[in-house]
Amino acid sequence: MTGKKRTFVLYPSLGVGHLIPMVELAKHLLRHGHGALIAVVDPPDTDAVSAAAVARLAAANPAIAFRLLPAPASPDVVGVHPAKRDKDTLQLANPALRDLLRDSLPGAVDALLLDMFCVDALDVAAEVGVPAYFFFASAAGDLAVFLNLPYLYPTLPSSFREMGETLVRCPGMPTPIQALDMPWTVLDRESDGTKVRMYQWKRIAEARGVLVNSFDWLEPRALTALGDGVCVPGRPTPRVFCIGPLVNDGSTGQSGERHECLAWLDAQPKRSVVFLCFGSKGAFPAAQLQEIARGLESSGHRFLWVVRSPPEEEGQSPELDLGRLLPAGFLDRNRGRGMVVKNWVPQAQVVRHEAVGAFVTHCGWNSALEAIVSGLPMICWPLYAEQALNKVFMVEEMKIAVALGRYEEFVRAEEVEAKVRLVMEAEEGRILRERLAVAREKALEATRECGSSQVAFAEFLRDLDKSSSVNGECN
Ligand code: UDP
Repeated sequence: MTGKKRTFVLYPSLGVGHLIPMVELAKHLLRHGHGALIAVVDPPDTDAVSAAAVARLAAANPAIAFRLLPAPASPDVVGVHPAKRDKDTLQLANPALRDLLRDSLPGAVDALLLDMFCVDALDVAAEVGVPAYFFFASAAGDLAVFLNLPYLYPTLPSSFREMGETLVRCPGMPTPIQALDMPWTVLDRESDGTKVRMYQWKRIAEARGVLVNSFDWLEPRALTALGDGVCVPGRPTPRVFCIGPLVNDGSTGQSGERHECLAWLDAQPKRSVVFLCFGSKGAFPAAQLQEIARGLESSGHRFLWVVRSPPEEEGQSPELDLGRLLPAGFLDRNRGRGMVVKNWVPQAQVVRHEAVGAFVTHCGWNSALEAIVSGLPMICWPLYAEQALNKVFMVEEMKIAVALGRYEEFVRAEEVEAKVRLVMEAEEGRILRERLAVAREKALEATRECGSSQVAFAEFLRDLDKSSSVNGECN
């Protein structure tokens, strides 16, 4: 694709989960001949992206420029809600971002592309005169709900947690949803987390536009709601450009050595393995790990399972002791049929492996997209953030998954076994696989030359620089 070269500064929120999609966006921009610099806030007092993680990603992606922005320690950390702590930290980084845009790269930046939580950087963009767009690395359906919640929530009788299974109606949703499926951080209406999110989601509407990591075919209902302007009462909804799926192709951040789990998968029959992995942070209490183990064992299916230290043991034992955490004899009995990996696998490569037949996921949006482009049916077990909302979209609207658990719920072994069998053995599983095959094809189509996501990207460039020629770009 030809056309004017633009330079973008990409500004992720704190945490590896926010950095990974920004790296994919940067790769997309570079593929289209533009320049991309990722500015990463590096505070001393949070579990944010470490300089080491940035160095690893920079080494794996030498064409992308990375810049660490020092941020002073947040004034209050102890007892502060993590959403508020992160918001405060990002706000404290505003001067460093301003220095970067105004002094280090004066006049050189065409647009600032902001993570959904970096709303206070809108002030910096306005101050230095750089257009700001959001890069929304979650579903378009989430965007529709987030934009609406600051207006809807105050009108409801109580907190989502108290409303429980009461149905709530939101624009872009396929059906009214249970209040408990709303984003985890906002379940309690009076919490600091909710206040921060309401503030942030209200401000998203101030941007010139929102790039969404999704594609038109997957989410027609939510995109109609966003396009009709019904999500944000009383003010225009920013323009939405679905430019995805932008996903890790398996090369980002991986060392040259092939992970042992891939060699193990090579030796398994096609579509025979259930893969369980719960994002960059997902972890279960010890009692729940035992229950999952029993469910997997009694399902009789092969499995590859990524296990982290239970939250209650965080920081206690230096080494994760699987023999102690899992049921007695589990590892020995299942040697050959199952593999348990501590902490991390190269997921993007795993989901693409032909031996994998189902994916038990926490419904993080990157994981969902990686499964979609691999044509892999999912079993949803949301753990935090907006994952239960994603589950509703994935099960009810996209029809690419079945539901298993929900935030903080204890799930019995029988339920784990039943859902594994449902997807691996039953007619429902066959229907899901067919649907995923179509979704995969549609995802590929969207990102091909002149596919819907390429067209949306060209429209975004046109929106950014209306006066410039877009010769050679799709329209
Ligand atoms: N991931 C991985 N290996 C793991 C766990 C996660 O490579 O063991 C990657 C996964 O492929 C995805 C990202 O980390 O790209 C997690 O993003 P997601 O949005 O799914 O969840 P989050 O971590 O933000 O909750």
